[in-house]
Amino acid sequence: MARRTKSVGIAGRFGPRYGSTLRKRWRDVMQRRYADHVCPFCGVKGHVKRLSVGLWTCTKCGSIWAGGAYVPRTGLNKNFPRIVVREG
Ligand SMILES: [Zn+2]
Repeated sequence: MARRTKSVGIAGRFGPRYGSTLRKRWRDVMQRRYADHVCPFCGVKGHVKRLSVGLWTCTKCGSIWAGGAYVPRTGLNKNFPRIVVREG
């Protein structure tokens, strides 16, 4: 089956709207958001999910930490690792 959205990827949901440059920039951000991230606390890949803007959790070890809006670690908070909540 041929792919309907060739280069725009997940930004294909917008159809022709908003302009190609904006769609590609949105796609680059969102692909990093949904990519498999390594948990900074247990080091396991693929369990990191975003709870809300800037709030990330690991479904493996239950850590919740403040990260970037669209990526779990930013250049800044790399130096200040803090677990906000640890659930058993
Ligand atoms: Zn973890």
